[in-house]
Amino acid sequence: MNWVIPPPPQPFVLTDEGGHFPVGRIFCVGQNYAEHAREMGSERAEPFFFCKSAHSLVRDGQFPYPSASEMVHHEVELVVALQAGGSALSPEEAKECIWGYAVGLDMTRRDLQNAAKKAGRPWESGKAFEHSAPCGRLSRRAPQAEARITFHCNGQLRQQGQLDHMIWSVEEIVVRLSQLFEVRAGDLIFTGTPAGVGKVRPGDQLVGRIEGLEELVVKVV
Ligand code: MN
Repeated sequence: MNWVIPPPPQPFVLTDEGGHFPVGRIFCVGQNYAEHAREMGSERAEPFFFCKSAHSLVRDGQFPYPSASEMVHHEVELVVALQAGGSALSPEEAKECIWGYAVGLDMTRRDLQNAAKKAGRPWESGKAFEHSAPCGRLSRRAPQAEARITFHCNGQLRQQGQLDHMIWSVEEIVVRLSQLFEVRAGDLIFTGTPAGVGKVRPGDQLVGRIEGLEELVVKVV
């Protein structure tokens, strides 16, 4: 290779056994819990996909408060990591593509996202900014179907739900994604957030938990 500038670093997330999982793309599911869809003003929920940059991953527990926003929201989510891929996968094939699971935060500049929604414009400025994807350590063990998912800000419970309340299950998400894209090893999927999203401020301590997975602790700096 004759790189004319140094190649950018390979984005990755850590595993609970000290490994490094290389990340290609980050897909996110919007409005995958009915109650959150309602709080966002959507009456009949039909989930959908959007993307973040893999370079938005945060692994060091620090979320620098971003520029250009007065309303930065937390969204706690189950993250799924793929070890294989393909197109038009069956549910069985989709299941085999999954390497592991983690707790993630889909940090959102809600004011910019709302303005984009209103104008019918893309969401990247609201969703895909630097440090917008804190992700905990990946575990190969799947959480239980009915595992609780919670988010605390400074010790106060803000979001809670159950994984089996997702409108699209994990397998269904991978199946649907593979009908739109050729999914690949290294892809991460943020699977949507339960109700209770709200603002964060510099100094806040954010804790995302899913029963059976390592918790994710992030400080807003
Ligand atoms: Mn989200």
